[in-house]
Amino acid sequence: MECIFCQIVAGKVPSEILYRDEEVIAFRDINPQAPTHVVIIPREHIPSLAHLSEVQSPLIGRMVNVANQLATREGITEGGYRLVINCGEGGGQLVPHLHMHLLGGRKLYDILG
Ligand code: 5GP
Ligand code: ZN
Repeated sequence: MECIFCQIVAGKVPSEILYRDEEVIAFRDINPQAPTHVVIIPREHIPSLAHLSEVQSPLIGRMVNVANQLATREGITEGGYRLVINCGEGGGQLVPHLHMHLLGGRKLYDILG
């Protein structure tokens, strides 16, 4: 099992877990790009958004719901936040396990930064 996020799911790599249920977990990004930077992932290893089947697609709704809950808990709902899913090398995806970024706590000015 080489996938770093699968290792986080298995508890083999430590992380600050903020949320977990039977399908989804969320933890703080190790290299935060904003005061709040949380990574939300399915427990299941799905390499990218491009590998998500139609049957699996409700997972994205669950991940958005978790992000919304965490945004409230982090106190960034009123100020605003951004959800990002990078897909593939050209999309800026470095870790090949589907994930969503929750970013907030600062003004996110440009198109993606
Ligand atoms: P990507 O560029 O693939 O969309 O984002 C991957 C994110 O995962 C990056 O923001 C990176 O900082 C984060 N990350 C990579 N390895 C680890 C890790 O071992 N622990 C945590 N908490 N975050 C990680
Ligand atoms: Zn994985």
